[in-house]
Amino acid sequence: MSERRHEVTTPEVLAEDQGSETSLRPQRLREFIGQERVKEAMGIAIEAAKGRGEPLDHLLFHGPPGLGKTTLATLVAREMGVGIKVTSGPVLEKPADLVGILTNQGEGDILFIDEIHRLRPIIEEFLYPAMEDWRVEIRLAEGPRAETMTMKIERFTLVGATTRFGLLTAPMRARFGIVQRLNFYPADELTTIVRRSADLLGVEASRDGAEELAKRARGTPRVANRLLRRVRDYAEVRANGVIDREVAGRALELLDVDEYGLDEMDGRILKTIIEKFEGGPVGLQSIAVALGEDAGTVEEVYEPFLIQNGFLQRTPRGRIATPRAFRRFGYAPPETLREQASLFEDE
Ligand code: ADP
Repeated sequence: MSERRHEVTTPEVLAEDQGSETSLRPQRLREFIGQERVKEAMGIAIEAAKGRGEPLDHLLFHGPPGLGKTTLATLVAREMGVGIKVTSGPVLEKPADLVGILTNQGEGDILFIDEIHRLRPIIEEFLYPAMEDWRVEIRLAEGPRAETMTMKIERFTLVGATTRFGLLTAPMRARFGIVQRLNFYPADELTTIVRRSADLLGVEASRDGAEELAKRARGTPRVANRLLRRVRDYAEVRANGVIDREVAGRALELLDVDEYGLDEMDGRILKTIIEKFEGGPVGLQSIAVALGEDAGTVEEVYEPFLIQNGFLQRTPRGRIATPRAFRRFGYAPPETLREQASLFEDE
């Protein structure tokens, strides 16, 4: 059971999300809820580019999984009225995989590359002249002395998405004219997202029912939508089909969803700091080694949520688990920790 719980709130894509994510995706920028700063910047960039009759600048979205990077890319294409081809860093093996796409794109079309931090170096090298001078080098045969041919391509817009901004190479970063960071959604925006999705799925959810789901969705629309689908099943089978606070509460309890929406990795990080390092302070590297995880992933993908929600603090001497984290896992927070936490309140 506990394994299922962790799965439900993971921000990564699960098999069950695949079909429904497409149907729940907002179709226009104005339907995209929250992230006002990003939306405004995009709105301006789109209007300006359209006004000049030019393609949009290359654009990078970064932030934790499930916050709407792919959605924004498709919205931008729609608002610009251009085509979009979708691929991802790990699936591109050789430049030839991109030649077909790039030489067939119309002016202003979008090439969306998810997980762009995972591009191989040869693909990056191939992309630079394409992004800057609208030309691609095509090798006519294999081997070191094979001839190459340069081909002009239409001016296009590369939209990249990454959960690991820190892993993007400097030359790649420098080639994006617009860089936007997505942040976790506050509960009221997630509530609106849940209600919108409920409408689309044809299920009735009361305001307090939607709030109950939003609270436990780890600040992440993907998780909110997944909880909604699971709770809808429960409401249909065990209640009258309406998701109100009570039905939501019972269903989430049955699904064993944490009251804060912590997922498995969140739990492992906090427990490691508490159980192996007495609550900290402990360096990021030591935490990563103890978890068998990559330090950058812990720092960029997991810590932001834990910090924002008061479970973890970054201090000059390392990470510390907060009293709230101790209590969450059934431990009494040590006195010394309380002093430390208040000492670094403003970090
Ligand atoms: P990412 O690419 O950042 O991992 P996605 O764009 O795939 O995230 O979003 C995951 C799901 O969450 C999508 O199905 C989308 O419908 C929903 N979603 C994300 N952001 C929003 C938003 N601001 N408003 C409504 N739905 C959203």
